[in-house]
Order: sequence, then C-alpha cells, then structure tokens
Amino acid sequence: MSAFRSIEDADVAGKRVLVRADMNVPMQDGTVSDATRLERILPTLHSLTSRGAKVILMSHFGRPKGKRVPEMSLKPVAEKLDALLPEVTVRFATDCIGPEAEQAIDELADSGVLVLENTRFHTGEEANDPEFVGQLASLGDIYVNDAFSVSHRANSSTVGIASVLPAYAGLQMAAELRALSGALEHPERPVAAVVGGAKVSTKISVLTNLVKKLDCVIIGGGMANTFLYAGGVDIGKSLCEPDFADTAREIMQAAQEAGCEILLPSDVVVAKEFAAGAESHICGLDQVSADAMILDVGPETCAALKTRLKSLRTLLWNGPLGAFEIEPFGGGTFALAREAARLTKEGALITVAGGGDTVAALNDAGVTGDFTYVSTAGGAFLEWLEGKELSGVAALRVG
Ligand code: AMP
Repeated sequence: MSAFRSIEDADVAGKRVLVRADMNVPMQDGTVSDATRLERILPTLHSLTSRGAKVILMSHFGRPKGKRVPEMSLKPVAEKLDALLPEVTVRFATDCIGPEAEQAIDELADSGVLVLENTRFHTGEEANDPEFVGQLASLGDIYVNDAFSVSHRANSSTVGIASVLPAYAGLQMAAELRALSGALEHPERPVAAVVGGAKVSTKISVLTNLVKKLDCVIIGGGMANTFLYAGGVDIGKSLCEPDFADTAREIMQAAQEAGCEILLPSDVVVAKEFAAGAESHICGLDQVSADAMILDVGPETCAALKTRLKSLRTLLWNGPLGAFEIEPFGGGTFALAREAARLTKEGALITVAGGGDTVAALNDAGVTGDFTYVSTAGGAFLEWLEGKELSGVAALRVG
C-alpha cells in the first residue's frame, strides 16, 4: 500500500475534499432499496468530517448518456446518506459543475457533506474531457477515490481529476486493494479460485490469468458445461458454448503447463425445465439424457470441493456453481460457500469474493459477513481478476 497516498496522512482541515464514491445504488419506487454501497463509504466520510474537511461527493448514477434524466438524479441517494449520517446534514447540489455546485460549496461548513448531482448528466464525464475535468477539479483542493468498483473506467471523476489535484485512496479503496492484491498477487498458498457463472466467453481472460497464478481453479456453473463438452461429455440441452470448446481446451492446456489443477464437476443436478421447483435428479456425467439440463453440481462434487477447501489457505470466488436463483439449484453454491465461511471463521482460510451474482449468492447463503472480503464491484473485480491494472487505481499511484 506504500504506493498510494492515504487520506489519513492528508491535512484536510478546512479543505474542500472531492470524493469519488460509487453511489450507483439499487432503487425501487424512487428510494434506495440497498444501501450497502453507501455504508461502505461511511469510514472515509467519518475520517474526513471528524478532521474538519468540507466533503464533496461525486458519483454517477445509471446511464443518462450526457443528458439530464430526472429519474437518474442523486437527490434520493443524498437523502438516504443523510439518514445514515445522523451527526451531519448532507446537502445536495443540483449540478456537479458550474454556479449551482460552486454556491453549494461556498455555503458548506467545515465537517459538512455535500452530494453533487450525477456526473453522467454531462458528456464530459465518460469522455474524460479535459475541460470537464478542469471544472470538477476547480471545486476541490484534494481528490479522494473511494470507488474501486468504477475505477476500471477512465472517466473525468476517476482518472482525469487525479492528475490535476493531489490524489488519495479512500479507506474503502485502500481496504479493497489490500484484500484483492493480498489474494492474487502475493497469496498465502495453496490458493484456489472458484470461477462459475453462465458463460466461458465472458471469463476467458479471467481463466487465462488465474491458471497462470493459482494452484487450483474450480470451474462450475454453465461455463463448466462447455469444458465438459470439450472433454467429450454428452451434456444434453445444458447451457453450453460449443464455439468455445477450443478455448476451453487451450485453458486446460495452459493450466497443465503452469502446474495449476482444474477441477470440474464429477456429478451434476439435472432437470428438464429451467424453472423453480422443476423435477430434478442427481446423475453421473455419463448419464445426462439428451433432454436434460445441468443446473448445479452434484453431492459427490460438492463433498470433494469441501474437502479440497480444507487444504487451502486462500480462496477467490467469482460466479455461482449453479443456477442458484432457482430452487433447488443453489445447493452446491450454498454448501461450498458455507464451508468456506466456516473455515474463514476458524482462521484456516482467507476468502475473497466479488461480482454482483456472487454477492447475491453469498447473501442467499447467509455468509457474506463471514468471508474475509466481499467486493461489491462487478466489472472492476473481473478486470482485476484478468490481471489488468485499473486506470483509476493507476492514477492514484505515487511516483
Ligand atoms: P455470471 O453473470 O456469468 O456470473 O453468471 C451468473 C448466472 O449464471 C446466474 O444467473 C446463474 O443462474 C447462471 N448459471 C449458473 N450455472 C448455470 C447452469 N448450469 N445453467 C444455466 N445457468 C447457470
């Protein structure tokens, strides 16, 4: 972490501190339905306000594509944040640049918090336009990025501004970088990853990078079907990408050359319908009938994976092992997640998970709080698993 400036070392008293947060939260009927992302920025906000900073929050919300879209206003999000910060009044500015923003900042007291309107109401945000960067930067003395989840995008508020103002990593960003680089760049070994989800095609670069770095990769979900198909298994009408069979074989080959073991299901749960409560049964890989779909890993696979977890020190996780949203196809994912959580609580395993579906699956299994670190980032988490340096993180590096 020495490569990043920490906000704890910054003299922030009386300064205008522009904080890039990810306030792109789920909304229902005009109110915030899940405040997890807001809760995660509270440590940074407390750290800054307790030292007398004027905190100015920037974020995008939805995809308004440079237009002012009333349903994509951050006003209700500012109201929710106000409720989460009882000790300060959170104010809201109806624009993120220009006179409205300037006036609201002039009126902001030390230790006050102001939320600027959606940065994506201006085309300059996603274009990383120097003029827009200048307008944003003129509002602050110091820049803080506390939004790992948007740091794969080279936008004005994530990259451009960091080259104009003194740039710092927020507390959430610092914790995220610590957890993620600890698990992938210099992990305690043996280290494995669970890579699941629907399709191989969306995670080729992830798999290619992981097999080079890890001791073991556990492949599950729909993407395991393509690997099984590539190995000659008859997978009936399971979700599969036959065009990626060669890719699957190349990944297997790369893993073998790198000394990384790939684990695939040895038994599966199949059904004829992809529907809640569909009649399902467990079968071996040589027993998947032509009209059946593989929708989860079977109990033999699950038991073997649970045993494997006991011999690991670090586990990364992205993507479910089955169609977990539909009962009863979450069994494999939930059982493995619970075992990973149990071992983490015992201090035997370091568990780092991320991605929207993965967080939802861990929440359903009731173990999110027991993992060592759970990232709410989706695209940024995947790019990090691909081994890419995120442009917003690179922009924070010192020297
Ligand atoms: P991803 O966004 O790539 O992580 O994929 C997550 C989705 O994959 C979830 O919605 C799961 O329901 C789905 N999924 C996982 N396993 C299977 C499977 N065997 N067949 C069909 N869909 C699956």
